[in-house]
Amino acid sequence: GARVTVGHMTVRRIMGLETEFGISVPGDPMANPMFLSGQVVSVYAAANGIRSNQSSWDYAFEDPLRDARGWQLDRQAADPSQLTDAEDPTLANVVLPNGARYYVDHAHPEYSSPEVTTPRDAIVWDRAGDAIALESVRLLAERPGQQPVNLYKNNADGKGQSYGTHENYLMSRRTPFPAIVKHLIPFFVTRQVVTGAGRVGIGVDSRGTGYQLSQRSDFFETEVGLETTLKRPIINTRDEPHAVADRYRRLHVIIGDANHLDVATLLKTGTTSLVLGMIEDGWLRDDWSVRRPVSALQRVSHDPTLTATVELTDGRTVTALDVQWMYLEAARAWLDARGDDPEEEATAEVMSWWEQVLTRLGTDVMSCAGLLDWVAKLQLLEGYRQRDGLAWDDHRLAAIDIQWADVRPEKGLVHRLRDRGRLVDLVTPEQVREARGTPPEDTRAWFRGSCVRRFSEHVFSASWDSVVFDVPGRSNLQRVPILEPERGTRAQVGTLLEQSVDVEELLRGLATPD
Ligand code: ATP
Ligand code: MG
Ligand code: MG
Repeated sequence: GARVTVGHMTVRRIMGLETEFGISVPGDPMANPMFLSGQVVSVYAAANGIRSNQSSWDYAFEDPLRDARGWQLDRQAADPSQLTDAEDPTLANVVLPNGARYYVDHAHPEYSSPEVTTPRDAIVWDRAGDAIALESVRLLAERPGQQPVNLYKNNADGKGQSYGTHENYLMSRRTPFPAIVKHLIPFFVTRQVVTGAGRVGIGVDSRGTGYQLSQRSDFFETEVGLETTLKRPIINTRDEPHAVADRYRRLHVIIGDANHLDVATLLKTGTTSLVLGMIEDGWLRDDWSVRRPVSALQRVSHDPTLTATVELTDGRTVTALDVQWMYLEAARAWLDARGDDPEEEATAEVMSWWEQVLTRLGTDVMSCAGLLDWVAKLQLLEGYRQRDGLAWDDHRLAAIDIQWADVRPEKGLVHRLRDRGRLVDLVTPEQVREARGTPPEDTRAWFRGSCVRRFSEHVFSASWDSVVFDVPGRSNLQRVPILEPERGTRAQVGTLLEQSVDVEELLRGLATPD
């Protein structure tokens, strides 16, 4: 078949970020996190009139009807009144009007952003998730008799537990997985100099003394694997594309940190997308494999001076910054060779920040304090250390590390830096506010979110790859698959969604050629 190009505008590709929030109840370490996470999600859903998502896996759908837009309508034989699977209220799981999923995973509230196509949009819909978490906390705090719940956007609780921030990238199914593994491992071992969120303490239990680049690195044990919470691998092999499976792969990246700073999120998603583009294109020929990647990962994380070295299998000894420069130079050559529009904004912006940040890290790390999470946090901690003469093992520094990530702007130290204008913001507060309730326009998230927004009471269930309607007066559920992540955009279905007075009309419109 024809070549499937998913990163067609180089840095652009379908992507989404998942954030598991740390959860705690002040003064009650025994509080049940599963139950409380359920409350966090359901209080937000209830306050915003969002129905709980029903599970729809178990029903066979019949009579597929394909329409001119490539959508497929299925009629379903089952009568929804006969559905038997009981819903467990602690398994809260909702699809939001912005196309995101908000649910309970591993006893944490998790926000999985809608699919976006640019790093900038990744920032906007990721920070919309932070705002949603904040609103949830506030709503719970207003409830009489409710235990106060705090949420944290970080990845380690300082007591030995880690929870994930995942990146998801659409890739061509034709790209051989071994090529992904080979070229991504050196990139992931070293990108933490840019993407790290900073952490007080060394080792999973934080018993070692010091400050390290990454929240997550100490929790990784192996190179490649299927697990995400045990024996965590640098490359996760989970293969659930939520899309046409023989065309696409969804690469599930579990090694990233939760970022608050816009430039860090831009570079985390943007540079990774560029590297994936080079892998898909077969552009990366040299073997930059790292010897003993897991220990290299941890060595790099444990060295805020950025002088630690890793050994490549070709015998070279290089720093993490050196390796990042190698990928940057390769990307530059690749973009030149492709002859894409050099003005293409999203790509140019990533390339320019990438170069600027690597240059600054190589000359004066602290000059990145407004750009990168780990440097911003380090600067704050160094301030306390000097003022109060604190050693790295002082428990106050560990407490500051946690307080850094509190989602409440009056408590979270990173939010206070933002309010004081100390961080370089790439998106506006208005964009973030708006994105809490509005889906990205250029992916299927537009269709999913708009259906929830317009026809909430008739959306029986929604998932990444389908929306199922319970249509008044019909005994059959109507399922609309959305297996092409780039279809269902505002340009394609915006007018239809706005003009349909009810679900019947929407479904008729979807089934009728333009
Ligand atoms: P978990 O890791 O929590 O067990 P998961 O990774 O399977 O779950 P979700 O939490 O449901 O999945 O989140 C999926 C994320 O992937 C979302 O951010 C979504 O926007 C994104 N996504 C969905 N489909 C694709 C795709 N085909 N390609 C890239 N990203 C996708
Ligand atoms: Mg998830
Ligand atoms: Mg995930």
